[in-house]
Amino acid sequence: MKPTSILVPTLARQIAAVFGTPAHVYSQAALERQAAAALAFPNAFGLTVRFAMKALPNAAVLQLFRRMGLHFDASSGFEARRAIRAGVLPCEISLSTQELPADIAELLGAGVTVNACSLSQLETLGGLLPAGAEIGVRVNPGRGSGGTGKTNVGGPDASFGIWHERIPEILAVATRCGLRVTRLHTHIGSGSDPQVWQQVSALSLGLTRHFPEVVTLNLGGGYKVARVESEKGTDLQAVGAPVKEAFERLAGETGRQLRLEIEPGTFLTANCGVLLARVQDVCDTGENGRRFLKLDTGMTELLRPSLYGAQHPMEIVAADDGVANGVVSDVANGGVVSGVGGGAGEGGATADFVLVGHCCESGDLFSCAPGEPETLAPRALPAATRRGDLCLIGGAGAYCASMSAKNYNSFPEAPEILVGVDGCPRLVRRRQTLEQILQNEVLPED
Ligand SMILES: *Cc1c(COP(=O)(O)O)cnc(C)c1O
Repeated sequence: MKPTSILVPTLARQIAAVFGTPAHVYSQAALERQAAAALAFPNAFGLTVRFAMKALPNAAVLQLFRRMGLHFDASSGFEARRAIRAGVLPCEISLSTQELPADIAELLGAGVTVNACSLSQLETLGGLLPAGAEIGVRVNPGRGSGGTGKTNVGGPDASFGIWHERIPEILAVATRCGLRVTRLHTHIGSGSDPQVWQQVSALSLGLTRHFPEVVTLNLGGGYKVARVESEKGTDLQAVGAPVKEAFERLAGETGRQLRLEIEPGTFLTANCGVLLARVQDVCDTGENGRRFLKLDTGMTELLRPSLYGAQHPMEIVAADDGVANGVVSDVANGGVVSGVGGGAGEGGATADFVLVGHCCESGDLFSCAPGEPETLAPRALPAATRRGDLCLIGGAGAYCASMSAKNYNSFPEAPEILVGVDGCPRLVRRRQTLEQILQNEVLPED
């Protein structure tokens, strides 16, 4: 998906001028479109869509989704608190966490629902909840699938959820603690193979047979989006239709009409955000070397390339409508021309550039090979790209502002800007100051 389809060049220049770069920019129209698509997920007996808020936890985004009728999946107690502070009702929050928070009793008391993600969590929750209370359990169904090994959270190599063979123990603990297991939860990874997701959905549905009181099956998130052309997004209608039929079959056999929950993060936000940066230097490593574009952003805003070898589309927008901006690098105008077409919005020759971030390590690389964070994979961009031009990095709505190497090299956290359906950009998080980076530092007293 072209970044300029989310953020047109004139608006990109305007935002850069008003708010500076780097900046995270989100499109309300795109977020609403994705939410509407998720709410249309095929279902037989009711649907709750929960936004996996770790993907993009800004309060403005949470409120936008809440207005559209979405509920929320929190991955930590702090996320649950953050959602509550943004105006989300506790009963709209489901917590599935690797680490039970210290204030879990208060969260439960407020009405946050929880999926016990281990047997010990189930015990602890049993000790806190009144007899007869309802609880969810997250089960590792025995299979996983993720876009990368790092985001596969199911199967024997993943610690998430209670291993499916331990269902008798789940039932025993629940009975002993007087808990009623009314929700079953599985989430097998981010960027799951749609076929594996479907198979696991069938498996999960089968597991509900062990839990007579389960009324809700939560099938997690993980739906793929295509950030670059070579990737294929998951069609929610296509993966959901057979799952809906399976729910209907189960109802036909057992009379149980289960409600469906899904928890997308990526799907709802990934292609709704652009990281707006500026080319702050252009250099090369000789005739047989590389040509580099150094950006004023990096792993401090977007860690996914360094972490996963993730692919993000990138476009150059000339600083000044094609008018030279005064700082012209010789290299930028003299390198090898590798192709023609698609210049900085004006057409023209392209050249291969390696795009790097501003942190002092070679791992701060944006133009890496798919799945290979350390392998340079130059991108064809306008040969005339020069210092001061804007670089728009697409697919940057999910796991970017929320998952970065924040403050590395002491770069301040970038602002977040939400472009409304009226086309107006509004600041939804200010740029951090050096003062704020240092505010918790104390010198030892001697
Ligand atoms: C991260 C996460 C999700 C969302 O995953 P996406 O790949 O962003 O859709 C959903 N459920 C749980 C429990 C998660 O941890």
